[in-house]
Amino acid sequence: MQESLYPFRYETHCHSCWCSGCGRNTPQEMAEAYYSAGYAGMVLTDHFLRGNSCVDRSLPWEEQMARYWEAAQAAAQWAQGKDFDVLFGIEHAYGDGKEVLTYGIGLDFLTAHPGIHRLPLKEYAELVHQAGGFLSMAHPYRDRPYINMAVGPQPEYLDAVEVFNFYNYPEENQKALALAKANGLQATSGGDEHSASGAAVGRAGVALRERARTGAQLVEQLRSRDYRIIVNGELAPCI
Ligand SMILES: [Zn+2]
Ligand SMILES: [Zn+2]
Repeated sequence: MQESLYPFRYETHCHSCWCSGCGRNTPQEMAEAYYSAGYAGMVLTDHFLRGNSCVDRSLPWEEQMARYWEAAQAAAQWAQGKDFDVLFGIEHAYGDGKEVLTYGIGLDFLTAHPGIHRLPLKEYAELVHQAGGFLSMAHPYRDRPYINMAVGPQPEYLDAVEVFNFYNYPEENQKALALAKANGLQATSGGDEHSASGAAVGRAGVALRERARTGAQLVEQLRSRDYRIIVNGELAPCI
């Protein structure tokens, strides 16, 4: 029943080697992986400039932003004629190893805000929301050496929490789910996949009622709260 109501699966968190220092495959290879897994689309969320980006930071701002946009465009071009949607996003690091997945914004938005990556989360979130974007905190309780665990999430600036991150430990995901519930935030799920042959392909993301051809359509469906999250390949309530 759930399956038929929410037939369109989208990865909401994946990386390419064009803009992420830790990315292993090209945008086209990532698209091919999700397409082959039966997904309707993916949001490319390469690490933004305060995170593990491999975009040359000595370039003019417009050109740095163009590198991000071109990665998604290249995957979209690969997907032409395949009924597979490639959407643009970024994984923005705002300090202390904390990151927010940003959906529903595009090249115009980034180009118009030079230095946006240096803003505190509060101000970053204001700009994203003014532009109609949507923020889900990536793996809020991930415990790794590069993350300052003394700094907690700031739920007041978020729309959602990534309650299932494929590569997190179960207890980290459980804490993320509790954070979402305690603050009335929505839930997203992401593979955080960096490799086209990785185990997260086909195991995470969101399942939608309708296709999301654009970032705005994705945000609209997320805001409707009428979708499912994908947990280890199975559909689960979005809270
Ligand atoms: Zn990474
Ligand atoms: Zn990531």
